[in-house]
Amino acid sequence: MNKQTLSFQAEVKQILHLVTHSLYSNKEIFLRELVSNASDACDKLRFEALDNAALYEDQPNLEIRVWYDEAARTITIRDNGVGMSAEEAVQHLGTIARSGTREFMAALEGDKKKDANLIGQFGVGFYSGYIVADRIPVDSRRAGLAPEAGVRWTSEGTGEFEVETITRPERGTDVVLHLRAGEEEFLSQWKLESVIGKYSDHISLPILMKAQQWDEEKKAQVETGEWRTVNKAAALWTRAKSEITDQQYQDFYKQISYDAEPPLAYTHNRVEGRTEYTQLLYVPAKAPFDLWNRDKRGGVKLYVKRVFIMDDAEALMPVYLRFVKGVVDSADLPLNVSRELLQESRDVKAIREGCTKRVLAMLEDVADSDDAGQKAKYAEFWRQFGAVMKEGIGEDHANRERLAKLYRFASTQADEGVSFADYVKRMKEGQDDIYYITADTLAAAKASPQLEIFGKKGIEVLLLTDRVDEWMLSHLYEFEGHALASVAKGAVDLGKLQDEEEKKQAEAAAEAARPLVERLKKALGERVKDVRVTTRLVDSPACVVVDEGDMSAHLARMLKAAGQTLPTAAKPILEINAEHALVKRLDSAEGGERFEDLAHVLLDQALLAEGSQLEDPAAYVRRVNALLTA
Ligand code: ADP
Ligand code: MG
Repeated sequence: MNKQTLSFQAEVKQILHLVTHSLYSNKEIFLRELVSNASDACDKLRFEALDNAALYEDQPNLEIRVWYDEAARTITIRDNGVGMSAEEAVQHLGTIARSGTREFMAALEGDKKKDANLIGQFGVGFYSGYIVADRIPVDSRRAGLAPEAGVRWTSEGTGEFEVETITRPERGTDVVLHLRAGEEEFLSQWKLESVIGKYSDHISLPILMKAQQWDEEKKAQVETGEWRTVNKAAALWTRAKSEITDQQYQDFYKQISYDAEPPLAYTHNRVEGRTEYTQLLYVPAKAPFDLWNRDKRGGVKLYVKRVFIMDDAEALMPVYLRFVKGVVDSADLPLNVSRELLQESRDVKAIREGCTKRVLAMLEDVADSDDAGQKAKYAEFWRQFGAVMKEGIGEDHANRERLAKLYRFASTQADEGVSFADYVKRMKEGQDDIYYITADTLAAAKASPQLEIFGKKGIEVLLLTDRVDEWMLSHLYEFEGHALASVAKGAVDLGKLQDEEEKKQAEAAAEAARPLVERLKKALGERVKDVRVTTRLVDSPACVVVDEGDMSAHLARMLKAAGQTLPTAAKPILEINAEHALVKRLDSAEGGERFEDLAHVLLDQALLAEGSQLEDPAAYVRRVNALLTA
């Protein structure tokens, strides 16, 4: 073949038009694409050489070289990979074979506005060179062919390209970008190196650039003639697990997380199936300062075939696992995938599900371990991340059971570390429900009068004091068939836990206290929804509870603190302990002011004990003082 001028396939012209009309706000990605092609070409050679080692010729070390020429205004990307024959150059650089790009072209017909987003979904690869270049000669020679079978492909990126045969002793490809006016920023060692560092650090081949040195006479950086590797040239996650030491995993974690502490746990797997990817995920030991910012993107970096695509690819992890750090390297996603398209991709959904399961399994391993050290680690993990993990119950329905098993709480038996399973194991004969109380602090929860009867009967109650607990409870109703029941909502029904004797006694007490209840209702009027006798109290004279369907006082306070206006705050129900001396005294008190004062003080105290603020603290003080001086 001598010199020939050929026309691009129609679709290529359209792509070129889009590319050159600045669809990319991010020009520098041309280098990522061309380095990625060079790396692919080396991978292909390595693969073909498995059957035919002669393809290596006298150059067994695969590498990529990048350099620029200020005078000529060119950037060259050279690889000693598989190269292209003349036919291949025409075929691969002149037409679009990939179905993805065809789909893209089909999608182009529609709403033109969306094109800028769409193009991100389908890699335009080689043609991205025309973002910064107005002429690109490509010299290549296929591995295994004679030097005379080289090819020079050239195009200005408009309608046509030229091909001619050349003699090229070395196998592989040179892509030469003749920069457009205005793209001089790329004629810089620093610029090129930083773009390579950003996107191609983990390409497993060395990327070499010419070393430079400061020349005092010329007052400029000059080339020394040496070459040096500018990338790390090692993608840890692509290596076999057995070849990686624990120290290497730890070092890599430090590098990607900037966390000085070693991670709690990590997992490294190659996943094959509908979509193929490698995951290397770490759970940090300490929470970052911005853990509470739900808008913060995730900590997982996305690579496609070892080419860096983006940091913090939040679509790869559910929000509640935003503290997980690591790398996902997909074999299937296109290089130009955008954040928007990640959200919709079925492959990404499969990756997210796979990663979630892995992280949960990793946590289960630590949580369920019999080793004391591991147990202590899990306790610390829970202190750091427990509240975030609880967000998961509403977010991740598929894994709610696994999540619930990982949860830990304080209870009336232990200040931390109680799992639902522990609780269920300790349930009393005849107990069906898992009892809990919510409060602002552990001390307030422990001091709740509502707990008294449970304490007396030796029934454990979970003490929930995280802000997120109320949210968790709105999504979690039961654990393995046991309903979660608040001890501060509705009438206590200990059901089978109360014997006949106790029930009779309670009924009798309620009957006897009926006149007092009526007097209290009258005295307290609008302040309460109801007054009734309860069996839940042992040491306290009274407590407040809310009706079964009403919002708990704790949640109401939280919402108020968050600036939310509540439709109508649920009124409390005052429950009295008919056996208590103070209540008996009240019963014998005459009507009139003294009774009213006592009634209001009883209610105010119950509200205070429960953690509420009094609407009229001055009135409370006045009444207490009146009673004290009476
Ligand atoms: P993709 O890399 O997704 O296939 P590109 O547009 O980046 O798409 O490249 C198109 C094709 O051109 C490649 O599939 C490959 O066959 C060929 N090609 C590009 N660059 C090189 C290179 N440096 N060496 C060998 N072949 C190349
Ligand atoms: Mg490519």
